[in-house]
Amino acid sequence: MKMQAFSNHLFQLTRLGCINCYLVREDDGFTLIDTADGGQARAIMREASRLGLPIVRILLTHAHVDHLGSLDELHAALPDAPVVISERDACFLLGDKSLSSSEPQVPLRGGYPVCTTRPTRLLYEGDRVGSLEVIATPGHTPGHLAFLDTRDRALIAGDAFQTLGGVAVAGTFKLLFPLPALATWHKGLALESARKLLALQPSSLAVGHGRILSHPQAEMEHAIQVMEQSLAKEEGQQSRVA
Ligand SMILES: [Zn+2]
Repeated sequence: MKMQAFSNHLFQLTRLGCINCYLVREDDGFTLIDTADGGQARAIMREASRLGLPIVRILLTHAHVDHLGSLDELHAALPDAPVVISERDACFLLGDKSLSSSEPQVPLRGGYPVCTTRPTRLLYEGDRVGSLEVIATPGHTPGHLAFLDTRDRALIAGDAFQTLGGVAVAGTFKLLFPLPALATWHKGLALESARKLLALQPSSLAVGHGRILSHPQAEMEHAIQVMEQSLAKEEGQQSRVA
């Protein structure tokens, strides 16, 4: 696993050049955001201990396999660290993949593994986890969350955006790294969430797949425009068919 310090309190861990998780420094230790794919618990804990702090909580952006693959292993190794996820995506850990009647009835995409770990806290819009403000960003998954560091406005956006293969909103197909698009549940909601994240005026954008961007506004705006155009085109095609 490759570790890169982005600031005094944000550290990016990258697996195979394409799967990120993050260590966020707090006064009491690290908040680990996401857990990469399976088999990475030791590597993640090694990086935290090299940085000199324990992992004191595990926070999840969403329930896809490349974000919670090592959750059970980490929970076994760190049984006292709270496990925190949105109330909505927590259902997927139990294997419940049903949609609620208020949600768009389109099929879920991507891998949602069943976990033995049970969350200790469920999150909602506006909650706080240490220095991080919880931002509900449905679209890639129904209960996807992003986290804004209130100390410096660094935004950890999970898969709401990607930067690998080009900066894109979840659901925009990027030939060089198409996985986030293929795993995106609802593009219209993903677009709304992307606009919400841009409006936060983040100082940096840290994503599940790709490098961290500083001053990301222009690139986020452009990615949003590309998504708007592609959705407008899809709608045009659908109305011609109808
Ligand atoms: Zn995902």
